[in-house]
Amino acid sequence: MTYRPPLCPVFGGHQARLGTGMLLCRRHWLMVPKPLRDQVWAAWARFREAGEGLRELRDLRVEAIRSVEAECESRVRGDRR
Ligand SMILES: [Zn+2]
Repeated sequence: MTYRPPLCPVFGGHQARLGTGMLLCRRHWLMVPKPLRDQVWAAWARFREAGEGLRELRDLRVEAIRSVEAECESRVRGDRR
């Protein structure tokens, strides 16, 4: 089977494929608040280097995806600040 990169997880995938090791597609990743992005990076680096903190990384990942989805919804509703 040929390797297919995973789809961006936001809104059940919107056909944007992810680069290696990427959490979200570039467009959505840039919508994650900077402090949270930094936390995700730190957790990811720790997991990669020490092989620990997987649960924390998963939680942060979910949080990042939720923050992007909330942002998308508020844009759709038109109450963008
Ligand atoms: Zn995306």
